[in-house]
Amino acid sequence: MEDGKENENFIIFKMKVLVTGGAGFIGTNYVKYHLEKRPADELVVLDALTYSGHKENLAGLNLRFIEGRIEDKVMVNQLFEEEKFDWIVHFAAESHVDRSIRNPEIFVTTNVLGTQVLLDAARNFGIKRFHHVSTDEIYGDLGLNSTDKFTEESFIAPSSPYSASKASSDMMCLAYKRTFGLPVTISRCSNNYGPYQSLENFIPRMIDLAAKDEKLQIYGTGENIRDWLYVKDHCSAILEILESGRSGEIYNIGGDSEMKNIDVAKMILKILGKSEDLIEFVADRKGHDERYAIDFSKIKSELGWTPRGVFEEGLRQTIEWYKLNSYERNHISGRNGHEALSSHESHKQASAAGL
Ligand code: NAD
Repeated sequence: MEDGKENENFIIFKMKVLVTGGAGFIGTNYVKYHLEKRPADELVVLDALTYSGHKENLAGLNLRFIEGRIEDKVMVNQLFEEEKFDWIVHFAAESHVDRSIRNPEIFVTTNVLGTQVLLDAARNFGIKRFHHVSTDEIYGDLGLNSTDKFTEESFIAPSSPYSASKASSDMMCLAYKRTFGLPVTISRCSNNYGPYQSLENFIPRMIDLAAKDEKLQIYGTGENIRDWLYVKDHCSAILEILESGRSGEIYNIGGDSEMKNIDVAKMILKILGKSEDLIEFVADRKGHDERYAIDFSKIKSELGWTPRGVFEEGLRQTIEWYKLNSYERNHISGRNGHEALSSHESHKQASAAGL
């Protein structure tokens, strides 16, 4: 686009950007961040509004919203023809490991087929960058006593149908780069936390249960380790990759905050002034990954990005957000009848809170 404007050090070009999954947890945070940093850009959000997508998250924002599924080839092609996108930021996915254990099929449909439909449209209509948001879960897990970290060169060894479907979509993106020269970048991040996350996920679920003085059910012994990334840090890394990352590259994004699940639960209880007696251990998840740890030195050295969030501070802010926005706000509604749990089932089955 030709109307570039001088910023302090470089020229910013106005971009037409498609954000898929922009009504979900990370997508919502990203859309807000993007509009704040690049207000001249035109954003179009494409989202199927499944159990985890909430259109009201985007109320009042300057963007076009399209309700639709990324695997709907006809609709996606029409949209690309009409809008002539410069950048695609692809968040849309089925994202919950426990759901993938119960029903893998929708994960293949959305995460693999949907990504391929978008890649084809990007190839047919021409774009400047296709950024695919992936996960460190595609690397599998590390032993609890290991001190290793995943690099971008680590072996791909997904454990769950969710991570296998994400690994497949990564491979498809890289194949479109190699075969068709499509300008693709991929980011693989650790566990995000922050505002707008569905109550099915670990941290919001623990906050919600603690606030209601209900038992915090934790898988196994709670020793599993995750690296926690504040969602705003994730958003800043993605924008940095879009603006300055190299086409064809994969960038790991980490939060530098490895924590045992049990310690996260205890921290939440402490911040809310509740007793640790609320903690209850339940049977472990099938194939439960032990430890994720991510080496993000590539994005640090190439793009100068580092996470700013300090875990306890970020957690306090997240708890404040859930308080202000009501603990009930994100209850899973079973909307669209699409693989959603009824609120009763969601309470029962997701009570150990997946991550
Ligand atoms: P989310 O479940 O909160 O949001 C997903 C969004 O995609 C929802 O708005 C949903 O309605 C939409 N969607 C689902 N299927 C769709 C389809 N077929 N067509 C169009 N839209 C559809 O997920 P999230 O936590 O925000 O994750 C976003 C992305 O980041 C995903 O690709 C996920 O794999 C990746 N990721 C998430 C985390 C995390 O900690 N949450 C960590 C690593 C990677």
